[in-house]
Amino acid sequence: MKAMYYEAFGATPEIRVLPDPAPSRNGVVVKVEATGLCRSDWHGWMGHDPDIRLPHVPGHELAGTVLAAGKGVSRFKPGDRVTVPFVSGCGHCHECRSGNQQVCEAQFQPGFTHWGSFAEYVALDFADQNLVPLPDSVSFATAASLGCRFATSFRAVCDQAKVKGGEWVAVHGCGGVGLSAIMIAAALGARPIAIDISEEKLAFARTMGAVAAVNARAVADVAEAVREISGGGAHASIDALGSQVTAFNSIANLRRRGRHVQVGLMLGAEATPQIPMAQVIGHELEIYGSHGMQAWRYDAMLAMMAAGTLKPERLIGREISLAEAVPALVAMDQATDLGISVITRF
Ligand SMILES: [Zn+2]
Ligand SMILES: [Zn+2]
Repeated sequence: MKAMYYEAFGATPEIRVLPDPAPSRNGVVVKVEATGLCRSDWHGWMGHDPDIRLPHVPGHELAGTVLAAGKGVSRFKPGDRVTVPFVSGCGHCHECRSGNQQVCEAQFQPGFTHWGSFAEYVALDFADQNLVPLPDSVSFATAASLGCRFATSFRAVCDQAKVKGGEWVAVHGCGGVGLSAIMIAAALGARPIAIDISEEKLAFARTMGAVAAVNARAVADVAEAVREISGGGAHASIDALGSQVTAFNSIANLRRRGRHVQVGLMLGAEATPQIPMAQVIGHELEIYGSHGMQAWRYDAMLAMMAAGTLKPERLIGREISLAEAVPALVAMDQATDLGISVITRF
């Protein structure tokens, strides 16, 4: 199979022909039809993720067709259109049995713990527990965009922040996660405030449902700007970028008893942010992490898509080839693209 491959962190990946994968007993091999390019792939390539062993094939936001299934797989067969959450649970640990596969103790993550989907084929373990059948109405490119950023934002907004209609929701960073969070919060009837340093991204965020926008470069104090717009602070706030500055602002801009959700990964130099802990105590703020979403929660998200309430396809920016994904991955931390890039040609 053709795949994107690297032997050293930070060295430019190559497109190589590698042996085709075979399914494990409880796994499948999926022919990849579409796979999204994500900042987490860049973090992995930079060596920020301790789960990655070299050499490596990245890629974790995928959709495709089942090509082969192991003997222990009963729910899926060759030809099935599927997608998968980027965190797949083992199905047996305490967390999986409690329905929290997104924090499984023995999780399978394509593109991190195992070779991923920047390839013609990808092997996925624990198939019965984690694969999500795709309705014909959902294209592969749209489905690929769900697996990480959109699904993660769905959990962050709906399940962790528990956003309700009428609430102010600050969203820091208007990349794929942020724009998804804005669309989802708006669909729930909340009032999203978009925060970014790019006027172009803020304008795009308004088309996704943001009712106000703050250019973090144009104001002296982002938290103060959010408090002013929302009449006292956001009810919920999401750091969709993952930096010391955005994490701090996302907590500082909350109203009393507000909820902060950290979605953007805090890796490398950003790993230990300052937190305004006096405000957390005095105002009884709640701080949550959000890490992927369980396969069983896809039903709610797919139902909102079928109803036309959520339109994740609007977040797709460019469809690119596997070869074009190499320079795109390497430059990911400098990316100025609007929306998500999806590999659809191999
Ligand atoms: Zn588990
Ligand atoms: Zn991702």
